[in-house]
Amino acid sequence: MNERETLRINEKGHLELGGADTVELAKKFGTPLYVFDEKHIRNMLGVYRDTILEEYDGNGLVLYASKAFSCKAMYIIAAQERVGVDVVSGGELYTAVQSGFPADKIYMHGNNKLLRELEYALDCGVGTIVVDSFREADILDGLAAKRSKKQNVLLRINPGVEAHTHSFIQTARTDSKFGFSVADGTAANITEYVLSKNNLRLKGFHCHIGSQIFEKQSFVLAAAKLTEFIAAIKDKTGYEAEELNLGGGFGVWYNDEEPCLGLSDYADYLKAIINEVKSCSERLGLKPPFLVIEPGRSVVAEAGITLYTVGAIKDIPAIKKYIAIDGGMFDNPRYALYQSKYTVLLANRADEKCTEKVSIAGKCCESGDLIAVDVPLPKAESGDIMAVLTTGAYNYSMASNYNRNFIPAAILVKDGKADYIIRPQTYEDLVRNDCIPERLK
Ligand SMILES: *Cc1c(COP(=O)(O)O)cnc(C)c1O
Repeated sequence: MNERETLRINEKGHLELGGADTVELAKKFGTPLYVFDEKHIRNMLGVYRDTILEEYDGNGLVLYASKAFSCKAMYIIAAQERVGVDVVSGGELYTAVQSGFPADKIYMHGNNKLLRELEYALDCGVGTIVVDSFREADILDGLAAKRSKKQNVLLRINPGVEAHTHSFIQTARTDSKFGFSVADGTAANITEYVLSKNNLRLKGFHCHIGSQIFEKQSFVLAAAKLTEFIAAIKDKTGYEAEELNLGGGFGVWYNDEEPCLGLSDYADYLKAIINEVKSCSERLGLKPPFLVIEPGRSVVAEAGITLYTVGAIKDIPAIKKYIAIDGGMFDNPRYALYQSKYTVLLANRADEKCTEKVSIAGKCCESGDLIAVDVPLPKAESGDIMAVLTTGAYNYSMASNYNRNFIPAAILVKDGKADYIIRPQTYEDLVRNDCIPERLK
């Protein structure tokens, strides 16, 4: 286990997060339950924010990529930590706005933003919209004109950097659905196109090369390619971009196949990026651009764990042993989507030795509904509390009501205090939008 300041095993042999005994949390709030460690979230946002402050004279901004975990409390924490956020849908934007988040520090992404999402973004006064198609540039220019506004935009650029990660979470390969390619000249064309629009103000360029990336070199390469792109555009058109947004993608520890990084390691990633942007800018005679980064996963993933109760245990001798839990792909679809690997432990017997290899099955009607396969565990019994670590990112945000299971509640813990940030669903919630047409009555 990746023990750290706020995740440890206490005297009772129980897993403790943010000063709270997780077995007590399971008893008090029920399972399945998402638990978030407030201190870890604040530490992560703080280290990115302070690195820009210290290494780049504060000439930049950290955006929390809120698709990783979006709820009102999360936007409030981001605002308190003096970072911006990015959103990728009207729903995320609405949640941010409802939490009181300052609209000028919101960036909006998306490869196919809907007309109503763009209208809503303009009406909210979203600070920056990251344009990802010619069509979007036209629509946005028209909407801004109607409102007598000049909308700040960035362009999503695809620099053709291949990062070593799962192909579904690589986003800057030449065949990606995201961005304007530098290689085929589209990126230069859209730049000139947007510069010609009366109601768009081009601030600069954006790229995001993927997620769960550990190689510093991938980030550094993207920084270099984008800075070179700024220079190429300046040569061609005289326009010098003032802002460079390099996205997120920093990797996190899920299990021991991955490195376990501390706060200073994340600072090092950002320092490497900053140094590259500085040296490229100098070499190319550019003013160092306002630098934006957008970490999502690394802010919340390790801050979150999910607690379950062990139910049925099915032993298929010499083949497989399944430990079934009261959750599954409806609260964590990442194994089903990407065969993601997790670290699993028994929260009530966290100090015991692992004696067998088991697979953790959910309760949905799908054989692929698994949380982990062949993971070490002490001999589990029905009623044990199971903890799956590193579930803070892309778990709640990807959860569904499949099989009409409840999406679990989420609580925020700090110094042993625990409060709901997402309340439990009820059966009424599940039928709230159901309608019965007259002819069925
Ligand atoms: C998903 C995403 C991020 C965040 O990526 P992480 O891997 O969660 O850090 C940042 N920017 C954009 C545009 C994204 O799509």
